[in-house]
Amino acid sequence: MAENAHDQLVLSLFKECDALLQGHFKLTSGKHSEWYFEKIRLIEKPAALEKIVDLLAEKIEAEIADFDYVVSPAYGAIAIGFLAALKLGKKFAFTQRADEKMTIRSGFSGLDGSTAIIVEDILTTGGSIQEVLACLKEHQVAVKGIYVLVDRSGGAVPIEGRAVGSLLALKVEAFEPDVCPFCKKGIPITKPGASDKRT
Ligand SMILES: [Zn+2]
Repeated sequence: MAENAHDQLVLSLFKECDALLQGHFKLTSGKHSEWYFEKIRLIEKPAALEKIVDLLAEKIEAEIADFDYVVSPAYGAIAIGFLAALKLGKKFAFTQRADEKMTIRSGFSGLDGSTAIIVEDILTTGGSIQEVLACLKEHQVAVKGIYVLVDRSGGAVPIEGRAVGSLLALKVEAFEPDVCPFCKKGIPITKPGASDKRT
């Protein structure tokens, strides 16, 4: 699945968090997969997450010269963006949905007219990131970059023409039940808890 030493390191860190599970899973799409991300586990072990965010912060520092804020959407990405901001010596703010609309959490004082990068946990369709972009545009925030820990689209989803930087680009193969190799082997299937957040 991972081809080089960097990817292997990142994968081992995700496994250390128990965020990347290997087995036989029924996805919300109904398809079956060998791999599953339990993304809430990224924040369950802060010491393990810190090692992952160190790598992300190194990447951001090498690519983006100057910005004021790290902005993340609530809730799972808050801890990730906050840690990244701490490592990078930047300010932090988060967005949340209010009546279905993505908004900046009230009380953050200096965001309007500033520069920012967006940090999200996992990119699947890019929906949340697009909402954050629209929200920041309303506040005249210039977005200098978009980063995720894991790109589940396998690098296939640019957002409004922008590349999304990721620590790990991973396109996980999923099978229809009737052709699933793990069903054929008789491996018991697990249905992980449904995510409570749209991605
Ligand atoms: Zn199966």
